[in-house]
Amino acid sequence: MKPERAPLRPGATLGVLGGGQLGRMFVQAAQTLGYTCLVLDPDASSPAGWVAHHHLACDYLDPQGLSELAARADAVTTEFENVPAAALQTLAASRTVAPAAAAVAICQDRAAEKAHFQRAGVPCAPHALITDAASLAGVADTLLPGILKTARMGYDGKGQARVTTRAELATAWARLGQVPCVLEQLLPLQAELSVIVARGADGQLVHFVPQRNLHRDGILAVTWAPAWGVSEALLDEAQQRARTLAAAMDYVGVLCVEFFVADGQLLANEMAPRPHNSGHHTIDACDVSQFELQVRALAGLPLSPPRQHSPAVMLNLLGELWQDGEPDWAGVLALPGVHLHLYGKTEPRAGRKMGHLTVTAATAADAEATARLAAQRLGLAPW
Ligand code: ATP
Ligand code: MG
Repeated sequence: MKPERAPLRPGATLGVLGGGQLGRMFVQAAQTLGYTCLVLDPDASSPAGWVAHHHLACDYLDPQGLSELAARADAVTTEFENVPAAALQTLAASRTVAPAAAAVAICQDRAAEKAHFQRAGVPCAPHALITDAASLAGVADTLLPGILKTARMGYDGKGQARVTTRAELATAWARLGQVPCVLEQLLPLQAELSVIVARGADGQLVHFVPQRNLHRDGILAVTWAPAWGVSEALLDEAQQRARTLAAAMDYVGVLCVEFFVADGQLLANEMAPRPHNSGHHTIDACDVSQFELQVRALAGLPLSPPRQHSPAVMLNLLGELWQDGEPDWAGVLALPGVHLHLYGKTEPRAGRKMGHLTVTAATAADAEATARLAAQRLGLAPW
């Protein structure tokens, strides 16, 4: 355990790199605790920029922007993993930064991430790194069919290709620009889980119960918390593995670990060094949310172990929902336990995360029934 640092007082300024919806919900949680917020994002009308006290509209590596952020913020976090680790490094010279650049660097590179899983003794999918013609030719037959993923900058299934043959693999790698990639064996998924943990600078570690996730076209569509249809033993293992992965990189902040369940085994998929879409229900269903824990970890406040007080189902609201105009919010808000979150984005492009809806209820069965009704009223595909 490290010596504790004095918590930041209310009124102190928390900076966040990135102005998306995760930054917005961080800002809202920080403001509830009395902090002033400063968002750095190049987009002049970003979801977090709109709600923060201050917005610096500049590039993440703009030296002047970074020095202004360092001058005005007492501590800085990030809301997405593709923020250049170099920006965090620069800020860390004069300010508290959490998570640290080194941890973000691991999470933003699938090769480094897989190496971290192996170092920490956490099983993951069979895979190979492809960096040149020789590593492409040397791929084991057992990895096909597989999924080729760019090592960096992927999200929501972008930068990925499913391949069955060696010829398809070569074509897909060329199409991805022959950048460093990871080829993973295509697994017969029984379920997908994620676990969110928060760790303080003093080593205190807390976790949310695992949630079950349904992805469509590589994008999260539905989250159930708590997870269903997976043994208690595997859920316990997921919690333990997530905690191990955070501690093994001396992580400070909120970390999400995504897992696959395949052939009865738990395999780590990837980590996000920030709150996660699959943890949005924690705002409405838990006594402390993933965003509040991000604020507490950054501000040096105690982390309270979260307690989920209501079962929840979360539905993502993607841009296509707006194709015939504004969805019927009144129709879903007429249902009990529906919490609507819209991110203030004005252009509803297909696949773009515009908002989410969390249904809470006294029982998981009730939450499920209401979520299905809400999906039906909105015209979301049933599951
Ligand atoms: P995110 O938005 O979570 O950052 P991503 O683009 O980084 O997504 P992954 O999580 O690697 O991508 O993959 C997206 C989805 O594709 C997974 O949630 C899973 O449904 C499917 N998938 C990925 N890898 C595999 C695999 N090896 N076998 C089977 N399905 C997979
Ligand atoms: Mg993922």
